[in-house]
Amino acid sequence: MHLDLKCSLTGESYPVDQLQNLSAQGKPLLAEYDLDAIKETMTPQAVRARNIRSMWKFWELMPVDSPEEAVSLGEGCTPLLQANRVGPFEPFENLFVKDESFNPTGSFKARGMSAAVTRAKALGVKAIALPSAGNAAGAATYYAARAGLECHLFVPEDTPPANIVESKLGGANIYLVNGLISDCGRLCREACDQFGWFDLSTLKEPFRVEGKKTMGYELAFDLADHFGTETLQLPDVIFYPTGGGTGLIGIWKAFDEVEALGWIGSARPKMVAVQADGCSPIVKAYLEGADSAPLFPNAATCASGLRVPVAVGDFLMLDAIRKSSGTAISVSDQKLMQGTEEICRWQGISACPEGGAVWKAAEQLMSDGWLSPEETIVLFNTGTGLKYNHLFKSDDIPRIDHEGENWMKILEQQS
Ligand SMILES: *Cc1c(COP(=O)(O)O)cnc(C)c1O
Repeated sequence: MHLDLKCSLTGESYPVDQLQNLSAQGKPLLAEYDLDAIKETMTPQAVRARNIRSMWKFWELMPVDSPEEAVSLGEGCTPLLQANRVGPFEPFENLFVKDESFNPTGSFKARGMSAAVTRAKALGVKAIALPSAGNAAGAATYYAARAGLECHLFVPEDTPPANIVESKLGGANIYLVNGLISDCGRLCREACDQFGWFDLSTLKEPFRVEGKKTMGYELAFDLADHFGTETLQLPDVIFYPTGGGTGLIGIWKAFDEVEALGWIGSARPKMVAVQADGCSPIVKAYLEGADSAPLFPNAATCASGLRVPVAVGDFLMLDAIRKSSGTAISVSDQKLMQGTEEICRWQGISACPEGGAVWKAAEQLMSDGWLSPEETIVLFNTGTGLKYNHLFKSDDIPRIDHEGENWMKILEQQS
């Protein structure tokens, strides 16, 4: 295999042909590719010309020897949509939404699971297990089903019903835990030791981040396509809804890789980590100037993807935010719910609450003067709004009696 696994703290190497979780220091392992070897053949033109309609069109930068090895459901290649300058979006001249709701099982968790399940299967794994706050459970279930693996899920009791139902339906063994995602992580680890399952917790195995990094490659192509340029382009600012931070770390890694391939220069977007007020360990650590983020007590937010009180990749996220001259900001649940509705009704994009959060953070930083109107800004809408029906009221919809006489009056009152 054309890659090495290195401890993200010490740089120490680990064999790639064996199953790996954390390094001896308890830190994530990251894949390092022989970029010189692929530089000649893997050009942007070559990638553009491929007829692979998934993130596996970047297969040389992924843990496979050929694209046929991938356990794929067509993940990635999601649209980058420019926001209409209407309503609250009016001030933004170059605002884009990378709409990850298009992925299999409706969230960008598909990218990570496709890569991780591909590698686990190749190494002979029969059963995977993970803790999840929601979308990871659904994605793991369907990639495991596709690969013929057993799947065990530990989820907090307050996980969105849609995620629980889809996992059950997809044949996973799902366990409801009366605790937080961090408690689920502990139970999962103990069960893996006991039963010999492979722990697919994010950043505790090396390849979910490899799947999510493909969002960084795609952005460079998407923007070049939008602006009609041959050379790849990155935005000025990226807003990322941050839970475990896998995507943020992955996208940052992707930029270094494609710079080494000569696809882009040394300029980088400012990386903005967005969290919810009720669970903002990374924002707190960033504001305090710390380089790690301890457990955030009593974590609570309706944006389940952001309900991650402690993250093993904390130091990597904080490093990326600072090196990029970015920032970290949190928004209230009330704000992020309002933001979700605004994206839905002004842009026609099915937003998840995490997407609502990044939009409200961008609006806030624009009114603070941290952003300027002409900057190219990308918001990640990381999943479909359909998974969050339980959060939105629909009991104020007018009812019509089909045998009644005055139903037209109801319409008149509405308009
Ligand atoms: C998991 C998840 C996130 C957080 O992603 P990380 O890369 O782990 O930080 C954000 N939004 C949604 C919808 C998610 O499912």
